[in-house]
Amino acid sequence: MHNSVDAALRDRAQRVIPNGMWGHMNVARIPAAYPQYFARAEGCHLWDVDGREYVDFMCAYGPMLLGYNDADVNRAADEQRAQGDIFNGPSARLVELAELMVETVAHADWAMFQKNGSDATTTCAMIAREATGKRKILVANGAYHGAVPWCNPYPNGATAEDRVHLIRYDFNDVASLERAAADAGDDLAGVFVSAFKHDLGKTHEAPTREFAQAARRICDKSGAALIVDDVRAGFRLHMGGSWELVGVKPDLTAWSKAIANGYALGAVTGNDKFRAAAGRIFVTGSFWCGAVSMAAGLASIRKMKEIDAVGVMQRMGQRLRDGIDAQAKAHGVKLQQSGPAQMPVILFDDDADRKKGWLFCSEALKRGVYMHATHTMFLSAAHTAADIDRTLDATDAAMAEVARQFG
Ligand SMILES: *Cc1c(COP(=O)(O)O)cnc(C)c1O
Repeated sequence: MHNSVDAALRDRAQRVIPNGMWGHMNVARIPAAYPQYFARAEGCHLWDVDGREYVDFMCAYGPMLLGYNDADVNRAADEQRAQGDIFNGPSARLVELAELMVETVAHADWAMFQKNGSDATTTCAMIAREATGKRKILVANGAYHGAVPWCNPYPNGATAEDRVHLIRYDFNDVASLERAAADAGDDLAGVFVSAFKHDLGKTHEAPTREFAQAARRICDKSGAALIVDDVRAGFRLHMGGSWELVGVKPDLTAWSKAIANGYALGAVTGNDKFRAAAGRIFVTGSFWCGAVSMAAGLASIRKMKEIDAVGVMQRMGQRLRDGIDAQAKAHGVKLQQSGPAQMPVILFDDDADRKKGWLFCSEALKRGVYMHATHTMFLSAAHTAADIDRTLDATDAAMAEVARQFG
């Protein structure tokens, strides 16, 4: 990486940006060969600032679903941009997008819009507390709901008091969920559930029907809000909302990453039971009414339906999964692929320090495939069979290297 454009940018960043980079995209903790800076992207292909091309399986950590630089989404955004983006109030796109979300999302009677996923999850918590007049929020151990103080996974910069009304349970563990609800007593405002368990570095798990029904039952009994955090999985598993797959309807859902194919947009959808409370809280942001993102969201959701994006991602993800399973077997390497096919994580057996995982990813990276060893990966509707087959050529060599170094 020496003498590269990327290395020069990292040097300059160290001087003017604290620690060079913040947050989940800081590559300081992953192998040095991973580029920090990118120059352009098209479809499922990504070019770093040194001109190296990758087939991408991170999709900007989720927001890209139809392909980078999608022409249909860009056209809608460009047309809106020519009219204007932010005004003294919203554009007609706000009403059109709310109508489309209500028509698309199974549990939704109304919608509100923000920018980021953290805006959406925080808005859900506020609506739950306003509606119930209660304080306690249940969240699963290890689940991610955003980077703001009430739910930030790290203690730095927050106080214990910021989380004093959170009570933890284990995902898919009905007894622990019931225990957490009992701990809340008559002060339960809401139960947050991830679309599926997608904790960093952990085996991914679909919610069981029993768990989903228990969460619904607890909320029905207490009047608390059942809140699905669909920020990561939204529109990748089911256009009606991810918990349609277990047949349980939430009261509130938080959305963001993929709604507008990379344009900044967050959303909360809710049912009529929580409509009045949603109308009483004061939530806003300088850019929340931006019409360009909303135009992009309208075009994205329409296109996802038109091309059956969920089906495409599912088939391409399965092609990748089957190929990698066959390679693991052929090279005598033991690993577990979990998560839905369109949002996989690949964890090697006996790999607590993730050395095998990162070796595999680094070897794939060298061969033009961008994967992650611990975070949820993402398929897009722009991945083709040819992209998957090119990927499998790279992962076969990477698997061989894991077998050679770890036996
Ligand atoms: C990314 C994410 C968030 C936070 O979204 P931001 O846009 O980063 O604020 C919340 N919940 C889940 C499940 C996420 O994956």
